[in-house]
Parts: sequence; structure tokens; C-alpha cells
Amino acid sequence: MSDLAAALSRILGAKGWLSGHDTKPYTRDWLNRYGVEPLGVARPADTGEVAEVVRTCGKAGVAVVPQGGNTGLCGAAVAGSPNAVIVSLSRMTAIGKPEADSGSILVEAGAVLATLHEVLEPHGLIFPMHLGAEGSTRIGGLIGTNAGGSHALRYGMMQDLVLGLEVVLPDGAVWNGLRAVQKDNAGYQLRKLFCGAEGTLGIVTRAVLKLHPAPRQRATALLALPDHAAAVAYGTLLRREAGEFLSGLEFFADLGVELVLKHLPDLAFPLDSPGAVYLLVELTSGSPRVRLDDVLTFALEQGMEQGLVTDGALAMSDAQRAHFWRLREEQPEGQRLEGEQLKHDISVPPGKLAEFIAAAERICTSLLPGVRINPFGHLGDGNIHYNLTPPEGATGFGGKAGEIGRALAVLATDMGGSFAAEHGLGRAKITLAEQHRSPIERDLMARLKAALDPSGIMNPGVLLYGHRQRITFE
Ligand SMILES: Cc1cc2nc3c(=O)[nH]c(=O)nc-3n(C[C@H](O)[C@H](O)[C@H](O)COP(=O)(O)OP(=O)(O)OC[C@H]3O[C@@H](n4cnc5c(N)ncnc54)[C@H](O)[C@@H]3O)c2cc1C
Repeated sequence: MSDLAAALSRILGAKGWLSGHDTKPYTRDWLNRYGVEPLGVARPADTGEVAEVVRTCGKAGVAVVPQGGNTGLCGAAVAGSPNAVIVSLSRMTAIGKPEADSGSILVEAGAVLATLHEVLEPHGLIFPMHLGAEGSTRIGGLIGTNAGGSHALRYGMMQDLVLGLEVVLPDGAVWNGLRAVQKDNAGYQLRKLFCGAEGTLGIVTRAVLKLHPAPRQRATALLALPDHAAAVAYGTLLRREAGEFLSGLEFFADLGVELVLKHLPDLAFPLDSPGAVYLLVELTSGSPRVRLDDVLTFALEQGMEQGLVTDGALAMSDAQRAHFWRLREEQPEGQRLEGEQLKHDISVPPGKLAEFIAAAERICTSLLPGVRINPFGHLGDGNIHYNLTPPEGATGFGGKAGEIGRALAVLATDMGGSFAAEHGLGRAKITLAEQHRSPIERDLMARLKAALDPSGIMNPGVLLYGHRQRITFE
């Protein structure tokens, strides 16, 4: 056993230090693309232990890789070299008492999102972050990636839902910023700095999260539409007709439905006739006195009259609502089970979504004829998971993956959007950032990193190429 392993094992005890075969569940990312065997996995029990681990690794010159539920899609929560220790927050899962009057709750960073939802349910409160991996994602990981999910349209991204943070900094010092107020303009917005930092500036150990009253009424519909242009137009109509009640506006495509039905046999197609595009629409309200079904039915009739919607169904029970949501949320799983895939997490101004999808299809099919295109995502945020499956009968992308990724990034950037909408850069997209973000923007990030983590021990190789890298201006 190395000196470092012995020291960490002393600090953490048998439950808290894993090495050799025991590290297996932590070492590869969700897509099984990144991750080398680290020196070991630290599973600290509290903030003090996290700080000691970080200090000890720092003295030994060993990288620290924070890990939550390891569901990230850019390879950021696993080791990039063997000279690294993964710090898993999986033992720090405490969830405090919800403060109904203040609309906040204190949680440890290892709390699982779905567990937080369950804890809040009897209190009539919600933490409005929802995504397909919520049974595994942990609060620290959601903060690390500044996750968006399917309710960002109404409630914002993670940075809008974090009121306060406690963070172990790269030198092992602990910043306690666990305030529980939205309004706190005493200087730079430090808490936001750690949202989307992908574990490169410190380890979040606790957070004060913003809660909302649970909706007491919900209306959900699944709609079939002729194309993405109709979906964009219908999104505008819905925002006008449903206003602040609109809390979910998700889209997916015919190929996505085909793959989900093929690979997840417990799901069934719930409409009478198919569409080229599907929309999942959800309205919610805290008041039981507004008739949401009426609002949604009227919007549906309008959509049909205008030829934007060709078929649709309103969920008549919670089971049917859950089924509609599963059709959307199983989109990544359906495609994963089909085999090899390419994922692109794009955002464009919502009004340009159809234009992007049409132009992207021209690019992809000219680079790789027959490639199967499966765009889905969050229509209201202009966030497209532009995912590709190889042509029928092919097992891969014929060496075109890089070219396709670069072309899509150029297209999104030229349209005023982003090539990294809600999943971050991780290890997967640093090169794209080098190509598509200005020297000033990259230099600002490199300077921030160097100021907080001068020795570069926090998650090196993620988000930036290296802490030493100061971009110089010609
Ligand atoms: C099926 C599926 C659906 C998904 N849907 C969505 C979606 O709709 N929207 C969305 O935004 N994402 C989505 N994702 C991506 C992923 O779930 C999110 O990025 C999530 O926030 C990652 O959380 P995690 O706990 O798994 O973090 P991890 O994967 O463990 O880590 C992610 C990043 O955060 C850092 N990190 C982890 N813990 C801490 C900490 N305590 N302090 C500081 N940094 C930390 C890691 O170092 C890494 O850089 C999806 C993923 C899957 C598999």
C-alpha cells in the first residue's frame, strides 16, 4: 500500500477507503467512455473528512476527482490519470428539515435527487429539478454540472435553485456560505461560481436549496405534430395561452418513440395516429381553483384548428401521466439499447430550434448518408439532445463522429446558441470550447482556475486543458 493510500485509509477507515477491485463501480463513466483506474476511492463521512482528504492529496500532488451519482454525460466524474483519487459523496446523504416558511432545505451533497423528492412529498413542497437519471444523481453532481432538466423552463437551472453552499476548496479550507436567502449581493456571487464548475474549483459538501409549493393541480398532454416548425409555433401559442402554468414543454421524434417501444416493452403507443414530432406538455398550479384541463383543452383545440397538432391525448389519471413522461424520459435509454450512439447537447434560441434541426439534418446526412437522427429535449429552452444512431446495418459512424460534432458546434454557435447546453464540457468537449469560445472568455476561466486552485489538483483535464494553461493574446 502506498503512503498516500495508508494515510487516507487511516483518515477514512475501512468503510471510507476503497482500493483495487472494490473501486470498479466508480471508475467508468455512465457512457463507458472515460475513466482510468484511480489510486482509490475515498468515501468521506462528513465535511471534515473531505477537507482532510483534499489536504492530504494536495500534499502528495495527487489529483482529486469529485463524484456524485456518476451519471454525467461528459466524462467529468472519473479519473483521467492513475495519479488520482475519486472522492465519492455517496456517504454524505443527510437531508434536513424542510423550512416551509422560508422555502428552503439544507442537504448534504451526496443526497440522491429522487430521495429528496420523496422526503418533500408529505410536506407539500417540491424541489423542482427533474431528469431521467434522478434515481441516481446526487445534489453535488447536479450543482457541479448546473443541471437543467425538464422543469428549467419554469423554475430555472440548478444555479437558480441553490441559495447557499458549503465547499471544500482546493487547499482544504472550508467555505461556509450556507445562507438561506435569495437576495445576497454582498460581493461576487460565489455560490454561482461553483454551479457548473464540474468539480474543478472545489468539492461541494452541503447546500441550501430553494423549495417551491407542490402543485395541487396538474394537466398533462401528449401531442403529435407534423414537424419541428409546428412544434416551435405551438410552443409560442402555449406560452401565450397557458402563461405561467406552463411547466413542461418537451419534444421528441418518431425515431425516438420507435426505439423506446422496441427496447422497453412495458411502454405502449398512446395516441390513435403517429406524428413526426411529439410534444409532452404539462401545466401545473398551486391553486385548485383554476381549471387547468380547460386551459390545456382550449390550447389543444387551437393547435388542431391551426394545423399545428394532428393528434393528442390528455392524461386521465396519474398512471397515464407517468406513462407519457416515461415515453419522454426513456428516450436516452431507448437509444442506448439500440447500440452505438453520438450525443450532442445543443441549445439555440427557442425560436430557431426547427431551423437548427433542418440544417443539422442536411449536414449529418451529407457527411454520413443514412445516419439515423433522434433529436429530443426541452423545447421551451431551445435545448436539443441531437443524438445520432448509425445507419441501419452499420455498427459505427465510419470515422465521421468528430467531423459531425464540430459541424454541429459551428452551426449552434452561429445561431447564437451553445454546444454545451446542460451537460457541461467535462473531458468530452474541451476541444470544442477551445475552438468556439473567445480567447478572453477562456482566459477568464483559466485565471479563475489558477486563482482558486494554483496547484491544479481539482479534477485536472476537465473543463480546461490544464491549470497552467494561460491563454496568451497575440
Ligand atoms: C438518463 C440520463 C438523463 C439525463 N438527463 C439530464 C437532463 O435532463 N438534464 C441535465 O442537465 N442532465 C441530464 N443528465 C446528465 C446528468 O444526470 C447530470 O449531469 C447530473 O447533474 C449529474 O449528477 P451526478 O450526481 O451523477 O454527477 P456526476 O456525474 O457524479 O458528476 C458530474 C460533475 O459534477 C462534479 N461533482 C460531483 N459531485 C460534486 C461535488 N460534491 N462537488 C463539486 N463537484 C461535484 C463531478 O466532478 C463532475 O464534474 C442525464 C443523464 C442520464 C444518464
